[in-house]
Amino acid sequence: MPEGDMVWRTARQLHASLAGQELTRSDFRVPRLATVDLRGRVVDEVRARGKHLLVRVSGGLTLHTHLRMDGSWRVFERGERWRGGPAFQIRVVLCTASVDAVGYRLPVVELVRTEAEGEIVGHLGPDLLGDDWDPDEAARRIRAEPGREVGVALLDQRNVAGIGTIYLSEVCFLAGTSPWTTVEDADDVPGLLGRAHELMNRNARAGTQVTTQDSRPGRNHWVYGRAGRPCGRCGNTVRSGELGRAPHERVVYWCPACQSPA
Ligand SMILES: [Zn+2]
Repeated sequence: MPEGDMVWRTARQLHASLAGQELTRSDFRVPRLATVDLRGRVVDEVRARGKHLLVRVSGGLTLHTHLRMDGSWRVFERGERWRGGPAFQIRVVLCTASVDAVGYRLPVVELVRTEAEGEIVGHLGPDLLGDDWDPDEAARRIRAEPGREVGVALLDQRNVAGIGTIYLSEVCFLAGTSPWTTVEDADDVPGLLGRAHELMNRNARAGTQVTTQDSRPGRNHWVYGRAGRPCGRCGNTVRSGELGRAPHERVVYWCPACQSPA
């Protein structure tokens, strides 16, 4: 699942390609929006908010999309063959005189008044990749429910926007904290947030998702995706487990030896 850093990069790419440009064609392949035509409108800006993408166009409209599990936006030069997946997976097409922006496998596609964006993203906590990142407010929200597992609290986008299971697993490892530790027993919530902020900002700008110092596949994460393999720090076996309760449980990774027990 794309995490905040990948959504941020997508927004930056879409902004670079579309902002200031007039749409020469739009094609919504979702039933509810099938008759919408944005032709003639100018794209004002494209922003990420947590894992949400907001394409703001003239006339006070915002196209909201969410990538969820495997959605993506791709930008192609005019005339270039689209290659983000089979045509039936296309949900939105936005064309300018020079590029085609194509949204694939997007589970959320909706059009709202820009002034009403708050109804979509207003519940989100401070955005790790936002200009207005506020670590104190994120920590305050997390500490408001001291009995929750800290991993669950960090994944809750109402507390802090942008973290998915990759960064959750990695920052808990780096902090030596089990994701199952309760918030009240986790001694350094600001430290966890600080690591997430540093890693995600670095990776968002670099276009990678490296949390170690080694970008080679299989070595780019400390524990994420490494269940059954030796921990790079202590040599004990990395494990995976379910965090949270159905239907919202998520698979996370940790080293029982390096991270304090739940
Ligand atoms: Zn270890």
